[in-house]
Amino acid sequence: AAKADGRNKFHYFTSSMQHNAQERANLIRDLRIALQDEQFEIYYQPIEDLRTGEVYKAEALIRWNHPENGLVSPISFIPLLEETRMIIDLGDWIFTQAAKQAQIWRDKFHDDFQVNVNTSPLQFQSKKTKYWYQRLQDLNISPGAIGIEITESMLMEGQENISEHLIELRDQGFQVALDDFGTGYSSLAYLKKFDIDYLKIDKSFVNQIAEDSDDKVLCEAIIIMAHRLGLDVVAEGIETEQQKSLLKSIECDYGQGYHLSKPLPKAAFDKYLEERYKVTV
Ligand code: C2E
Ligand code: MG
Ligand code: MG
Ligand code: MG
Repeated sequence: AAKADGRNKFHYFTSSMQHNAQERANLIRDLRIALQDEQFEIYYQPIEDLRTGEVYKAEALIRWNHPENGLVSPISFIPLLEETRMIIDLGDWIFTQAAKQAQIWRDKFHDDFQVNVNTSPLQFQSKKTKYWYQRLQDLNISPGAIGIEITESMLMEGQENISEHLIELRDQGFQVALDDFGTGYSSLAYLKKFDIDYLKIDKSFVNQIAEDSDDKVLCEAIIIMAHRLGLDVVAEGIETEQQKSLLKSIECDYGQGYHLSKPLPKAAFDKYLEERYKVTV
């Protein structure tokens, strides 16, 4: 049901796509056009430091402004971009845009501003990520401006080249966040094997945290464990003040969610930062 609270309203293709090969083919055609015509846009969602209330991180989330269907959910089109390998070039574009934007916000608001980008395994397998460090050198941007979000499946056995690239990127100064934590396989082994910087607790643990004591216990345990391993924790999907204060009380480091802000186009995000930094500066 549509809600009048200004959240992004998406068009979902998924259900019809499963049954309709023609629509799927059309969608792939439209995606190629979208790439050429620059119909993609990066939205930014703030990540707040729950300890200080400051915002100096954001997550880059891709949006597709379909000429007829409006805003399309990435959940609908990322799999198709992967199937067609278009995600490789689009991912590179997202990386560069995110880095340039992070630098703008570094200059304007906070020296440590960082933009997180989501990644697909193909970006690593195609070795495109090998050029990221040099790209930033050329642009005179520090790798610290970028956080790379990965998922557990990318660290699984048989994905050895991905983990090597990740270690290299981390040595070069990029930070790495493990996204959707708690929804994958045996997460603990990866935490031991890979030196990552952040854990992002999946929103499925956060959305009932105030009602379900089991979810609260799980979040608490994840946070304690992460801290003992030297990692910071980001909670995704914070939708209420109650969830936020609960997460603060169990020492969660960062928070992200509609309660803080929905993902915003870059101009709106810039305004959002202006407002916040007016108060704190
Ligand atoms: P994700 O990386 O886990 O991103 C967080 C998702 O949660 C985003 O959905 C965001 O809009 C949504 N979200 C944020 N706050 C809340 C909240 O309070 N409640 C709820 N219910 N949801 C919230 P979005 O933008 O639709 O993206 C979905 C997924 O698509 C992402 O999940 C990520 O896996 C993928 N994705 C998005 N952008 C990119 C991209 O540039 N590259 C790649 N490879 N994947 C992307
Ligand atoms: Mg993410
Ligand atoms: Mg996530
Ligand atoms: Mg460490």
